[in-house]
Amino acid sequence: MTSEEIKALDSQYVMHTYGRFPVAIDHGEGAKLYDPEGKEYIDFTSGIGVSALGYGNEAWADAIFAQGKKLGHVSNLFYTEPCARLAEILCRRTGMSNVFFANGGGEANEGMIKLARKYSFDKYGKGRATIITLNNSFHGRTITTLTATGQDSFHNYFFPFTEGFRYADADSIPALKAAAGGDVCAVMVELVQGEGGVLPLDPHYVKDLADLCAENDWLLLVDEVQSGVGRTGSLFTFQQYDILPDVCSFAKGIAGGLPMSGILANEKCRSVLTPGTHATTFGANPVCAAAGLYVQEVLSDAFLEEVKEKGEYLRDGIEALHLPCFGKTRGMGLMIGIEVADGYKNSEIAQKLIAAGLLVLTAGAGMRLLPPLVITKDEIDAGLAILKQTLS
Ligand code: PLP
Repeated sequence: MTSEEIKALDSQYVMHTYGRFPVAIDHGEGAKLYDPEGKEYIDFTSGIGVSALGYGNEAWADAIFAQGKKLGHVSNLFYTEPCARLAEILCRRTGMSNVFFANGGGEANEGMIKLARKYSFDKYGKGRATIITLNNSFHGRTITTLTATGQDSFHNYFFPFTEGFRYADADSIPALKAAAGGDVCAVMVELVQGEGGVLPLDPHYVKDLADLCAENDWLLLVDEVQSGVGRTGSLFTFQQYDILPDVCSFAKGIAGGLPMSGILANEKCRSVLTPGTHATTFGANPVCAAAGLYVQEVLSDAFLEEVKEKGEYLRDGIEALHLPCFGKTRGMGLMIGIEVADGYKNSEIAQKLIAAGLLVLTAGAGMRLLPPLVITKDEIDAGLAILKQTLS
C-alpha cells in the first residue's frame, strides 16, 4: 500500500484518538525509518521510548521467533522460564526483590497504586489510602492514573475519577508536607518528568523525599515507565539518584518493542500482592519476556555508559547550533528536552522537522528527544544536520 492509501484506510476505520503526523512508516534499520515510498527519517523518538534497540535488529527478532515457535502463551497459571529469568535479572541488577509483569505503563502504575493501598490497608486498616503525586506529572490514561497525573487538563470528561490523590509542586518538601496528612499511604513521582517537559527532579529533594517517606511509612513509588530500562544511562534512573524505591514501575523499552511492563517491589513490599489480589492475562507473556531477556543482554554497564556519552554528544551538538527557536537543553542520557524560545511553537517545529526527515517529539511547551539507545554518532550527526538546515 502507498502512504496515502494507508492514511485513508486508517482514517476510515481507526478511532481518531491520536494527533498523528502525516507519515506512514513501513520499516527501519538502526535509528532510521522508511515510509512505503522509501523516504528516510532519522528517528529521535524510538516509538516514544520503546524501540530501545532501534529497528531491524535480527538477534531481537530471532529471540522472538524462537520463543514463538516454542511457546507463545500459556497464562500465569503455569510457570515459564523467560518470565522467571527476566524477573531474576531485573532484581539482581537493581537490588529490588520481586516483579509483577503487566502489559503497558498505565497498567503497571495501576498495580503500583494497588500495592501501596493494600500495604497500608493490611497494616493500618481503612482510611489511609491517599497518594500524593507531583504537579506536571504524567502517569497514564486509565481512570485512576489520569487522576494520579498532576495536570488539570487530564481531569476532564470521564467523571467520576478515582478518589484519593493530592498534588504537590515538584522539588519542594514544604509543598509535600502541606499536602500530607494522616490519610496518606504513598508518594508517587517520575524522577524525570517526561510528558511534562523532560524535567529531572533535584537530587537533594529526592533524598529528602525518600527520608520523609521512610519516617512516615509512606511508600515511595517511582514511575520509571519512560525513564527506565537504560534510557537515562543506568538500568533505572533511581540508581543515579542513589535511592531504593519501595515500588518502581517500568514499561516502554523493557522488551524493545513488544508490549510489556511491570512493577518491581523492594523487600518490604514483596509479599503485599497475594494470590487473587492482582493479575493480568497477558502479563509475563513468554515471547515478550524472551525479547526482554535479549534487551537485558544488550544493556551491559558499558552500553549504559555509552548512552550517557551519546546523550551529552547530542545535547552539545544541539546547543552548538545556536538555533533561534531553541533555548537550553536538559535531561539525562538519551532522554532530552529542549526549551523552545518565546514566539515559536513546539508543534510547528516538530512538523517542519518531520517533513525534513527528522522524527522528534514534543513535551510540555518544549521539544523532547528519545532516540533509540543504539543510535550511532553518524546517525546523531545526520539528525543535527537536519536541525541546522531546517531551523537555522
Ligand atoms: N507513566 C509515564 C511516566 C509515561 O511516560 C507514560 C507514557 O508515556 C505512562 C505512564 C503511560 O504508559 P502507557 O502509555 O504504556 O500506558
